[in-house]
Amino acid sequence: MFDKILVANRGEIALRVIRAAREMGIQTVAVHSTADADAMHVRMADESVCIGPPSSTDSYLSIPAIIAACEVTGAQAIHPGYGFLSENANFVQIVEDHDLTFIGPTAEHIRIMGDKITAKDTMKALGVPCVPGSDGGVSTLKEARKLGEEMGYPVIIKATAGGGGRGMKVAQNADEMESAFMTARSEGKAAFGNDEVYIEKYLTTPRHIEIQVFGDGKGKAVHLGERDCSLQRRHQKVFEEAPGPCISAEERDRIGKTCADAVARINYTGAGTIEFLYENGEFFFIEMNTRLQVEHPVTEAIFGVDLVQEQIRVAEGLPMSFTQDDLEINGHAIEVRINAEKLPDFSPRPGKITQFHAPGGLGVRMDSALYDGYSIPPYYDSLIGKLIVHGRDRPSALARLSRALGELIVDGVDTTVPLFDALLQEEDIQSGNYNIHWLERWLENNL
Ligand code: ADP
Repeated sequence: MFDKILVANRGEIALRVIRAAREMGIQTVAVHSTADADAMHVRMADESVCIGPPSSTDSYLSIPAIIAACEVTGAQAIHPGYGFLSENANFVQIVEDHDLTFIGPTAEHIRIMGDKITAKDTMKALGVPCVPGSDGGVSTLKEARKLGEEMGYPVIIKATAGGGGRGMKVAQNADEMESAFMTARSEGKAAFGNDEVYIEKYLTTPRHIEIQVFGDGKGKAVHLGERDCSLQRRHQKVFEEAPGPCISAEERDRIGKTCADAVARINYTGAGTIEFLYENGEFFFIEMNTRLQVEHPVTEAIFGVDLVQEQIRVAEGLPMSFTQDDLEINGHAIEVRINAEKLPDFSPRPGKITQFHAPGGLGVRMDSALYDGYSIPPYYDSLIGKLIVHGRDRPSALARLSRALGELIVDGVDTTVPLFDALLQEEDIQSGNYNIHWLERWLENNL
């Protein structure tokens, strides 16, 4: 069993991991940049180590600094949170080479799923339905044009190394192919150092439905249903719910079993998310994320499990604490992402928090690293909190969300809270009638 783990992250997710570890009687080490010396994760951990200057390249992404922090504190394992080094196979390899444990999947699984072409090939071979598209990479414009004609427009050109909504371009027709193809390639090269792209049919009215899976690394795996993350701006999620308003119990069982069987067959370890587009009753795989997701709390709420503690358990070599039969859905949960951003253009708004008050009461969870007087540094992600509500059913979760947003106070910076207040007034949100394009259209007409 671990005595001490290091949390290689910051913000709300670092607190999330520290809390899980403390309940298990495990000591925690926070790492931080000089810009985060006063951050909540540093205050809450048992120990902390400064690992570099503000720029994340020189601190939260500095592998030598993080390994050294483990060595000086005697931490035996590293939890990466999400983002930063969480899906860096090279990092996992180095962690293992230093006889430390990475709390997450193997370097090999991260590598396979980190390359979207390899991920799709692997999933297809495991019986998971995929979005129709090119067989592997497409290297010339001529080939891209030919595929566009064969598949029929619109198509989407995606960088195999892409992530965070970057390296993806839609071509509505043959005329748009050249610029979409070139832009996806150059974005892939600039952001991820890899210009390989592939082509998929662009689905016009899908929902984004993702399946939470969990494996013990020894051939056993379960699924924890789906999350609907269709409300997106620029391919980035802003509002997530579980269960999905349009998914039936039979559909859940069927796609869930396909996913659990697939990850069991590759001996997957820990938490993973298999993302699909869902249209006309069909699921189409787009990618797998080999880490804890930002939106994992909605799944925790409806299943009553602690996914971070479970990750720590299996990293210690223990069996999972639940079987598929133990996992039953209870009620409905919704998460909204509170970003320090100014509407309508969502420009980042770092700055000093003059007053912070978290909502409370039955069925309300606020995961945030804010406190009165905290200064949000300008160097990192603009996510400053996640408000998660849980109710007996979808209408009561929506009512609770509205009530909790009313209690929340974040003064001193602009946030995305007004967006959620407005969305809750919309009939389509009330009824769950939205797809991946709904929010972009709504923003054009309303903000
Ligand atoms: P990233 O790794 O950047 O998050 P994903 O492959 O997960 O990229 O796709 C992110 C989002 O982009 C999806 O949730 C969806 O909104 C949109 N998208 C991706 N592929 C397609 C497609 N083939 N058709 C329509 N929309 C797509």
